[in-house]
Amino acid sequence: MTSYLIITLGCKVNQCESAALGHSLETAGYVRSDGMGIPDIIVVNTCTVTGKAAMQSRQAIRQARRRHPAARIVVTGCYAQTAPDEIKVIEGVDMIVGHDDKLRIADLLAREHHVAGALPFVHHRSVYGCNFSSMPSVAFEDRTRAFLKIQDGCNTRCTYCIVPYARGQSRSMPVQDVLDHMHSLAGKAVREVVLTGIHLGVYGADLTPSTSLATIIETILANTAIERIRLSSIEPAEVEERIVDLTANSGGRVCRHFHIPLQSGDNDVLRRMRRPYTREAFFDLVSRIHAHVPGAAIGVDVMAGFPGESEAAFDNTYRLLDALPITYLHVFPYSPRKGTPAATYPHKVPESTAKARCRRLRDLGDRKRAAFYQSMIGQRLQVLTETRTDPETGQALGLSDNYIPVAVVDGDVEANRMISVRIRGIAPDGRAIGRI
Ligand code: SF4
Repeated sequence: MTSYLIITLGCKVNQCESAALGHSLETAGYVRSDGMGIPDIIVVNTCTVTGKAAMQSRQAIRQARRRHPAARIVVTGCYAQTAPDEIKVIEGVDMIVGHDDKLRIADLLAREHHVAGALPFVHHRSVYGCNFSSMPSVAFEDRTRAFLKIQDGCNTRCTYCIVPYARGQSRSMPVQDVLDHMHSLAGKAVREVVLTGIHLGVYGADLTPSTSLATIIETILANTAIERIRLSSIEPAEVEERIVDLTANSGGRVCRHFHIPLQSGDNDVLRRMRRPYTREAFFDLVSRIHAHVPGAAIGVDVMAGFPGESEAAFDNTYRLLDALPITYLHVFPYSPRKGTPAATYPHKVPESTAKARCRRLRDLGDRKRAAFYQSMIGQRLQVLTETRTDPETGQALGLSDNYIPVAVVDGDVEANRMISVRIRGIAPDGRAIGRI
């Protein structure tokens, strides 16, 4: 039996695609390497969102080659799609596969025979003009939650972002396919599905007839038995009123969880990033969500060190986030990506300054998260229990609809159940402590 190992870098969409890729290899007769044995095939699913991510992708390839000299190394993902020439020169790469051929890797491996010393085989098509590549829906980790990619690509051109070059224009999974996947996941006892995409907020605009994210959510609620839907990140301009209303009025089926990229809270930086909103609009949006959906988790992506980000501009970002009822921050230092407009912008911010700004933002995020968890003490939350338990205490672990990890102190709590718990406190490891 041929065994495989997948190494995944990057975002939720990549994780989703790795799960689907694993499924496609298993359907073709491969078995997953348990991590102890020696894999015959290693697939490195790369990322290129920042310079660091590309560097880590190269490292992962080299490390895989060093650890497993006899394995065949296949490289796919966003870095493989945008920079196959940089991967070709890494010693020991056997095959490079672009996004559109990811699920054909087993087939490609069966057809190609590696010739020692030859250049890697490159299966690399343009990502432009292709249709939505529908991946099988695969439940993750403990099989209580699953990610489903319903959208790919992006038509926006934020000046720092390489992703549209890696993933092509926006395309959506047809409505019936979304419903079929939902039915299939519900049939496998998956209770929560996270809808993901590269630019999820424009879901459906490319379909005929066109539809929208709000409409597909309504359709899923009306036609499937999935108990909970969670949205991955949505751009500020696309958090429609209807999505906020649906969340508030869905009886808990749409998770009270919004993840909204801000990137900068300074209007001049936003304009140069080509982000289509202002700090004032962002302030209104988060305030509106907070007022309409009590207890909602509101996560924010923010970047520090964009070219020309002055101390005053950074201060605008910091003060905006400090003033808002947000729950957590994902903080990234700006990283120039070759081929994007911002890579040529003058007034680069020194790395040490960008790092210090990131540190301040991360501290702010930690304080916000702690304050949010504290504010939940005494409240009842809907928690989906996982199949794993705390290794030390044996307590059931779960995730609340508003994205709080919870340990349930009552004994005998079954896995994969939606339960209502009252939050009693916060443990030193940051987890909330709940009691039924
Ligand atoms: S919306 Fe902007 S940041 Fe997001 S993928 Fe598209 S170009 Fe990149």
